[in-house]
Amino acid sequence: MRVELLTVGDELLLGDTINGNAAWLGRRLADHGVEVTRSVVVGDELDVIVAAVASALDRADAVITTGGLGPTYDDVTRDALARAAGVALVRDPALERRLRERVARSGRELQPMALRMADVPEGARLLANSAGSAPGLRVELPGGVAYALPGVPFEMRTIMDEVVLPELAEIAGLPSVARRTLRTARLWESVVATRLAEVEAMDGVKLAYLPDPAEVKIRITVAGRDAAGRLAGVESRVRELLGPSVYGVEDESLSLVVHRLLLDRDETVATAESLTGGLIGAELTATPGSSGTYAGGMVAYATGLKRRLLGVPGDLLAEHGAVHPDVAAGMAAGVRDELGATYGLAVTGVAGPDPQDGRPVGTVYVGLAGPGDSLSVVGPKLPVPGTGPEIRAVVRRMTVVHALELLRRRLLGLDVADESGEARADREDRG
Ligand code: ATP
Ligand code: MG
Repeated sequence: MRVELLTVGDELLLGDTINGNAAWLGRRLADHGVEVTRSVVVGDELDVIVAAVASALDRADAVITTGGLGPTYDDVTRDALARAAGVALVRDPALERRLRERVARSGRELQPMALRMADVPEGARLLANSAGSAPGLRVELPGGVAYALPGVPFEMRTIMDEVVLPELAEIAGLPSVARRTLRTARLWESVVATRLAEVEAMDGVKLAYLPDPAEVKIRITVAGRDAAGRLAGVESRVRELLGPSVYGVEDESLSLVVHRLLLDRDETVATAESLTGGLIGAELTATPGSSGTYAGGMVAYATGLKRRLLGVPGDLLAEHGAVHPDVAAGMAAGVRDELGATYGLAVTGVAGPDPQDGRPVGTVYVGLAGPGDSLSVVGPKLPVPGTGPEIRAVVRRMTVVHALELLRRRLLGLDVADESGEARADREDRG
């Protein structure tokens, strides 16, 4: 079974919209063992879409299109499919009634244009859209079958998952597949891959690595008989090999995991941020209910504020500058005391793109002050990939992950040092 993708829209060609639909479809289909052999982007132009559909079906068994199913005159995918199939567009009375009802319910007036959505290629099957108004279409053509989905990502995904994927999997006679994503922090992709070599070699097991700054997600796919049962075994082996760097599964974020740990202990954290300018606080407050575990934070960007707001000794700052392990520790203790939290979490460092006071980009110290006078600091050097203007965002993001991971490890009583040895623990004196 070979499938091609055809994403439709001028905005995609012009670069105004990132082609997220193609990326999502490619991944989703691969996950289900359906081979995508080509992916093409075209504008909202009737002739071009007709030709692209025909040419896709010269090569593949099915083509999946997204976009151009709406009511406006630049939405021409319906017309293109009718023409490619050599049939007329006909008004679907049931669909027309549903559209009229939907408009009436919302108290709007029906625009004549809106009824265009009820015109479908003769013989087409409607694909139910539980997420919106425009259904998808399944049209049989001489060379194969075309599935047309709306451009709005949420609607496209819904129809794909609910209707198209099960149908394709059945046609292709695909075996059962089970999947699990594990999330790790502060491990290099290459370190993960090396450790998992034996799993990679297992029959019917596929691993995909999805790297983000300072994080790697590992997607495990097991295909074949008893896929779900075997997946459990594979997952526990992967966890053994990766150790405590695995912090969560599926879409659990590091901040969510930290929030839960704090909640269990009835503890709180406060943040003092320099180079991240509030990103750690933003991340911690992204979780609903975070007010139970996040006290608040200070963005102490200017060196003087680290002294005035957080009580970092002036002579320390004068002698070493702001990027120093003792400054991170001082900021952490300062914000913990000032905001009355159980933990103070602080970061100071060089985000780049240029070095600062002779310290290279990616020099970052994360300080954590716990109950009593216990202090941990990790740093100095993040494993920054490359240089250039975009490095600043990467360093800042990596810093957020390193900070949250330091707190997570501390909460679990794990070694705070980075396992991969890339950022060593400068000191850990627990009082
Ligand atoms: P509508 O009923 O909203 O007009 P439609 O099927 O006609 O739906 P489009 O008009 O092509 O779809 O796109 C609707 C919106 O969906 C666009 O504004 C865009 O934000 C988003 N979109 C379209 N195609 C893609 C794509 N390939 N990747 C990501 N987003 C997309
Ligand atoms: Mg549209």
